[in-house]
Amino acid sequence: MTSTEDGASRKVIRILSPDVAARIAAGEVVERPVSVVRELLDNAIDAGAGRITLEIEEGGLALIRVTDDGRGIQPEELELAFERHATSKIAGLEDLGHVHTLGFRGEALPSIAAASDLEITSRVAREPVGVSAVLVEGRLVRRSAKSSPTGTTIAVRDLFARVPARRKFLGAAGSEGRQVVVLASHYALAYPGIAFQVVAGGRRSLTTSGDGDMRHAFAAIYGAETAAAMLDVDFGQDGIGVSGLCGPTSVHRGNRSAISLFVNGRWVQSRPLTFALIDAYQAQLPIARHPVAALHIALADEEVDVNVHPAKAEVRFRDERAVGRAVRRSIAAALEASRTVPWGETPEQPLAVLARPGIPNSRPGPAALRAPEPRQAMLGLTRDSNAVDEAPSRTQRELLPMLRVVGQLNATYVICEGPDGMYLLDQHAAHERVVFDRLALKPPGDLSGVQPLLEPIVLEVEPALVATLDEYRPDLARLGLETEPFGERAALIRSVPAGLGARDVCKEVTALLQKLEGEHRLSDPFGKAAATVACHSSVRAGMLLSMEEMRRLVEDLERTTAPRTCPHGRPTLIHLGTDAIERQFGRR
Ligand code: ADP
Ligand code: MG
Repeated sequence: MTSTEDGASRKVIRILSPDVAARIAAGEVVERPVSVVRELLDNAIDAGAGRITLEIEEGGLALIRVTDDGRGIQPEELELAFERHATSKIAGLEDLGHVHTLGFRGEALPSIAAASDLEITSRVAREPVGVSAVLVEGRLVRRSAKSSPTGTTIAVRDLFARVPARRKFLGAAGSEGRQVVVLASHYALAYPGIAFQVVAGGRRSLTTSGDGDMRHAFAAIYGAETAAAMLDVDFGQDGIGVSGLCGPTSVHRGNRSAISLFVNGRWVQSRPLTFALIDAYQAQLPIARHPVAALHIALADEEVDVNVHPAKAEVRFRDERAVGRAVRRSIAAALEASRTVPWGETPEQPLAVLARPGIPNSRPGPAALRAPEPRQAMLGLTRDSNAVDEAPSRTQRELLPMLRVVGQLNATYVICEGPDGMYLLDQHAAHERVVFDRLALKPPGDLSGVQPLLEPIVLEVEPALVATLDEYRPDLARLGLETEPFGERAALIRSVPAGLGARDVCKEVTALLQKLEGEHRLSDPFGKAAATVACHSSVRAGMLLSMEEMRRLVEDLERTTAPRTCPHGRPTLIHLGTDAIERQFGRR
């Protein structure tokens, strides 16, 4: 009701009591146990702790206790710390531009205290004893001297017990507790110089040594084997530094929780940076698998705004794309470095100079246009091998075992015998990888594998695809698919990648553009274009192959950068080991 019957107005807008206002604001900072833990860890780190112990009961709902050996709070300031906007970390507006602590808002302690029963004990080094206080609903109810080591312990009990509306939105203790442990893991990685101990429900779930080595902290979380396999990341560009660890392509997870990103020491959740990271692996991880990485991103204060989220979970970059680029390149460089010959020998003799009897060489050009049977062109049997082959490193070749082609199954799979049993190759996926490498690794301007068309083909472009074609035109041209605008809704195709020439070109190019349209264009458009062109230029399932074609396919696959996955991340081969075969036949 906005007015009484006789028209006299009644006050409807009122200023909330400080209590209620505090309760509302608290909801922005502390949403669930994991957000309380984050604030308490931030405070301990800001206090210069070298050792932090975190204990939780019932996922943090019954108890969260954080103990640190940091500098402590002076007795005369203990109450002040629980006042709203009370902070020792910034003094004025000008400081907001260069915050070097994790906290700065002065909101955490009052917010947590407002939503729980809280007990704090703290001692600074120069005092003989510490001080202990109990707060109920944010108000100090008891305070006393207490003997304690230097540092601070904060125990938060019965979180949200008096805020049932909030409690309703929480998950079960198990899921809240998991979030807490995952968070603590991110922090342990970000601060390998701090010895973390996490005890959940009485069980020790994480212990790090605090020796300063990120790989050791990583081992404590993911195990020694994974830690040993991780690659070092160390990259700088445009004033952005990226360092840390990233998994080789053989290390991956079913979700993204093993991706930790830190910006100037602060753990952040950033979709664009996560995408940039995933993108760097794009073609090299199996489908639906996610990379494992812990990356520190360091940039100048003015490049990043940390004050955009009440719980400090997000940051804003002045130039987000530049940061994404740096992340992607740092990973690409680490993956690339891991592929080089480990013992630094001179490169092996290029395979191209090995004799390949029975394989005709021909230079690309009009003469090659009519000559080859389409499928031969597709499998690359006619290309000038000297122009394309590159010396692979030893490790690349070790990625595939020696395979002997036995036959074809279902006109789709190549059956091979290997050192340990049987291997089934998906002919399309394998050829896709071969074509992708051939396309993506050749230098710009290299015309091998490109089929110029004597008569350009007119392609009707669907309205929805006009923009896509425009955007990818230079990338596609570099891949051999040269097009030229022709009126408003058509294009002239001037040349095609060799494999595409054997098909209904217009149909293939349209399908290819449709695929590209659905892609995120943000990063690596060339890689995406290459993967798509590769897909449309490769042998399909259902195509009968001769023994020689299959042998050639296996040989070509061996020499690719990632022979076990197609550019979209699907496996190129599956393995049935001798053991498994013998067991099936009851021989064991
Ligand atoms: P902020 O961290 O944004 O300053 P908080 O409400 O989290 O605000 O903490 C208020 C103040 O209490 C801090 O600025 C700091 O001086 C002090 N404080 C909080 N936790 C600790 C701790 N574990 N050790 C030492 N001082 C602390
Ligand atoms: Mg704080």
